[in-house]
Amino acid sequence: MKNIPLLPLRKTFLFPYMVVPLFVGRKKSISSLEKAVAKDKLIVATCQKNQDAEEPEEEDLYPLGTVAEILQVLKLPDGKVKVLLEGLYRAKLSNIKKDPFFSCSSKRLKFHSKKTKKAEALIRYVSKDFAEYAKLKGDVLNVNDILEIQEPDQFSDQVASCLQISLEKKEKLFTEAEPEKRLTALSFILSSEIEMLKLEKEIQQKVAKQMEKTKKEYLLSEKIKAIQDELGKEDYDETEEILAEIERAELPKEAKEKAERELCRLRKMPETMAERAIIRNYIDWLISLPWNKKNSEKIDIAEAKRILEENHLGLFKVKERVLEFLAVSKLAGRLPGSILCFVGPPGVGKSSVAQSIAKALGREFTRFSLGGLKDESEIKGHRMTYVAAMPGKILQMIRRMQSKNPVFLLDEIDKVSPYLLSSFLELLDPEHNSRFLDHYIDIPFDLSDLLFITTANTLHSIPSSLLDRMEIIEFPSYTEEEKLRIAKKFLIPKTTIGSGLPHLKVSDRAIKRVISCYTKEAGVRGAEKELTKICQKVAKEVVEGNKDKSQITVKNLTKYLGCPSYKEKSIGSANLPGVSYLLAYTEMGGEVLVCEVVTLPGSGKLYLTGKLGDIIKEQAETGLSYIRSKAERLSLQSDFDKRYDLHIHIPEGAIPKDGPSAGVAMVATMVSSLTNIPIKNGVAMTGEITLTGQILPVSGIKEKVLAAHRAGVSKVIIPKENERDILDIPKNVRKRLSILALSDMDEVIKEIGLIKVGSQ
Ligand code: ADP
Repeated sequence: MKNIPLLPLRKTFLFPYMVVPLFVGRKKSISSLEKAVAKDKLIVATCQKNQDAEEPEEEDLYPLGTVAEILQVLKLPDGKVKVLLEGLYRAKLSNIKKDPFFSCSSKRLKFHSKKTKKAEALIRYVSKDFAEYAKLKGDVLNVNDILEIQEPDQFSDQVASCLQISLEKKEKLFTEAEPEKRLTALSFILSSEIEMLKLEKEIQQKVAKQMEKTKKEYLLSEKIKAIQDELGKEDYDETEEILAEIERAELPKEAKEKAERELCRLRKMPETMAERAIIRNYIDWLISLPWNKKNSEKIDIAEAKRILEENHLGLFKVKERVLEFLAVSKLAGRLPGSILCFVGPPGVGKSSVAQSIAKALGREFTRFSLGGLKDESEIKGHRMTYVAAMPGKILQMIRRMQSKNPVFLLDEIDKVSPYLLSSFLELLDPEHNSRFLDHYIDIPFDLSDLLFITTANTLHSIPSSLLDRMEIIEFPSYTEEEKLRIAKKFLIPKTTIGSGLPHLKVSDRAIKRVISCYTKEAGVRGAEKELTKICQKVAKEVVEGNKDKSQITVKNLTKYLGCPSYKEKSIGSANLPGVSYLLAYTEMGGEVLVCEVVTLPGSGKLYLTGKLGDIIKEQAETGLSYIRSKAERLSLQSDFDKRYDLHIHIPEGAIPKDGPSAGVAMVATMVSSLTNIPIKNGVAMTGEITLTGQILPVSGIKEKVLAAHRAGVSKVIIPKENERDILDIPKNVRKRLSILALSDMDEVIKEIGLIKVGSQ
């Protein structure tokens, strides 16, 4: 322990092996220096904990310092002293005095300085990081000299003294007297410093790049200006033209303000900036939307009636409802808030009636097909910031129409995904749609003048919240006679004239054959397609010079359409046990399906095939239990349900089927198979069965009976409770087949000849 002059330092740690010049100003510090120079040129330097203390006390100083040799002292004219110190070793300080000069007792710190394997590894590790640090920093001196040092104490102190790090980090390294621990601390500090430096560099590069780009854009725009000057062109200012367009467009206040704001942004942008095109496009959209443009709003009921009669055959109820709707609108002075929903199978005239309504009202017509719509953005667009953003389909169509009150047909509303329900509720709600917000346009557009008409094939899949907003108008299927009349009056003229063959004749029998053997549909769309096909083939013949006049008859039909796809009367006459016809109702209209049952040796199992749903399966099970309860009456062996399996199959096997209305036919076919008695010829059935054999009502009777008529069925058995639906069926169909409404399965079994009338 020896007494030694002390030099307190501010914000500096003097590391051993470090040679540093220092400026000393405090009187007492200068006295300490003088004392040391006079003695042995040794002084101990330590950092102040409290940087503000002018005359630091013991607690203001770190108790650890570095004994240093004074290499040089130079008095400066301002009274300060410049001193060059070389750090020698760490020493523990005690007994600090400040009078008459700073001094203390110092004790050299001894530590284990053997060069261990760990120390060697740490040196290697730190060397690598230090080299990288120096490279990133670029201004570290003597790096290579330091990297050659192999002694852990000296190496770590030399590296530590070179780092440009915070005082806290320096303190941590300085107060760690043990070299190995100091090396470990160094490795942590170096890693974090390297990471920070890399980040800094990355940011620096980005900033430089951006600046470079801005500089380039500026230079380019200056060059363009210079070229234009050189060519003697007047200063063309695109924004002036846009401003004039905004004025001319007579936009509503909100849209005008928005357009002007965007124009302001555009003005501030350099001409070469890519974003200009995005803003320009947006302003174009604002200008070109028909904010105030409308078609006339006249409602002339007599004219509407004339147009509907002229363009649509039959559809009496539909026309009546449409005219009622228009009459209410006329009295109310505007169209009612409710939305018309046309429901029916494809091709029955839903879209074309909507088109006629538009014509009658003198409005534009547009159609938006909703089937397969997945994303809300297709309706409401993408925000402007999105690359290649555009408004949604609604505003796109309105712009194309240049009218804010067209008749807007939303086709296939029953196919809309449930995720889009809220968008449609908003769109169809008159309360909300007066401020319809498209994501791209971003200011409300008034859709309340639009006349929305929706179409659907079925109502099952439409959520009730949406159904509530709509007024349903049902479109029935057509009978064969109606189809023939529609074809003669509308489809033939349309297709022949459309193909440039106004004189082409198609015989009635040929049309009938097209309808019954080349199509199987509730509407007339398929027939229209087939007729178009014929016209195209004939047109080709005419162009090739093979013909100038043609007549299409049953005889030459196959030449144009190939072999028929369906039999004239699809219901067979094979009188086999275990075969029946059932009536189904699908989105496409009514349909006649075959039901087959075979009885096989087994143990009472029931097999069901043909892609049948749960409800059909339950109907089959219910029906089987009913048969077991009536086994004796049906003259079945009492243990038939233990000795036989039953297999029910409903072709076509690839089409999924479900619903309760197959119950009656399945029971009848099971009984027919078990008793080995065929069902009477030409009968088709529909109805839900209960365990006690009651027959419950089902839906779609009209469509089912029409399908039965098409297929050549002579008798249809329906549930008693559906009797009232018979009145909806056209008279000529009712005349051609008999419709029997029954309430009990026992009656059905008798009626189709599976049990003798009067037998028990
Ligand atoms: P949907 O919209 O119900 O699928 P469309 O309205 O597209 O059916 O009709 C398909 C074709 O059939 C159209 O060419 C249409 O003019 C014609 N059509 C359908 N029903 C009638 C009808 N009652 N009178 C005249 N043409 C009809």
